[in-house]
Amino acid sequence: MNRILEVCKLSVSFISGNEVVQAVNNVSFDISQGDIFALVGETGCGKSVIAHAVAGLLPDNTVISGEVNYKGQDLLELSQQDLIALRGQEIGIILQNPSRALNPLYTIGHQIREPVLVHTMKTKDRASRMVTATLRKMGFFDPESEAHRYPFESSGGMNQRFVIATSTILSPDLLIADEPTTGLDHSCIADVIKEFERIKKEEHCAMILITHDLTLARTLADRIGVMYSGEIVEMGECKAVFSDTLHPYTRGLIGGLPENGCTPIPGISPPMSRRFPGCRFHPRCTERMPICGQVHPRLEVNGDRFVRCHLCHSH
Ligand code: SF4
Repeated sequence: MNRILEVCKLSVSFISGNEVVQAVNNVSFDISQGDIFALVGETGCGKSVIAHAVAGLLPDNTVISGEVNYKGQDLLELSQQDLIALRGQEIGIILQNPSRALNPLYTIGHQIREPVLVHTMKTKDRASRMVTATLRKMGFFDPESEAHRYPFESSGGMNQRFVIATSTILSPDLLIADEPTTGLDHSCIADVIKEFERIKKEEHCAMILITHDLTLARTLADRIGVMYSGEIVEMGECKAVFSDTLHPYTRGLIGGLPENGCTPIPGISPPMSRRFPGCRFHPRCTERMPICGQVHPRLEVNGDRFVRCHLCHSH
């Protein structure tokens, strides 16, 4: 399979006054055409920062190092102008909260056709026909009427599907979905999942799925990276990670699923500004050993997986 994205040793820090706060530390992963790679973890673990780094959407007070190679070109080296040209055309972005992504003053059709008019030479008529075709492909029964609606006339789930239409109308090679189901009710989530399943089957783009929802990741992703406190702690094939979990934090997240009794992980994630020696998870880990508070574990290969845990490393 064609490798679309290769993130190498990505670190991201934010400068706030005299303080430098590291949000992402030395993260590497790759995604091939047709693959969905999910980054999961609790709020504040740095997964959305990675999505924003790949999309070139981080604020000015950011210090970023490493590489984000998209089809061989490092996105971190591109000018804003070149990035804008890629975003919306080759790289589609779906952010949480569709009400912020859609402009209440314009019809849905107007907004879905916008990337076509901005990034291609197509006429308004041709772009409008593409909107209709896209909505029909997504299963809308009467796409012409849908295109004439305003965002306030539709539910949150429906609007998220319109955002997906906007992000995919130009058939991007890479789709970045950041918490695409947050704030939606169960039936809307089911519609959005169905839409992603269709994209996976029919569009064959590579996708980064950022989510705190493990069930969503398990349903959609081929591979998964579990993040804790700015680092990947376990990464591998999604099925394998769920069936034979190696890292205590991943075990904790899976224990929190409803079918496992919603058992919470004790304690809370440390704030980004607080770093201490040893494993970042050790204050909360029920399996910690004396070494865990002293030595920061490396991310190492363990069978079919990458794992950052002294339990899994041979010393
Ligand atoms: Fe737990 Fe130690 Fe593994 Fe960290 S390194 S997850 S504290 S066992």
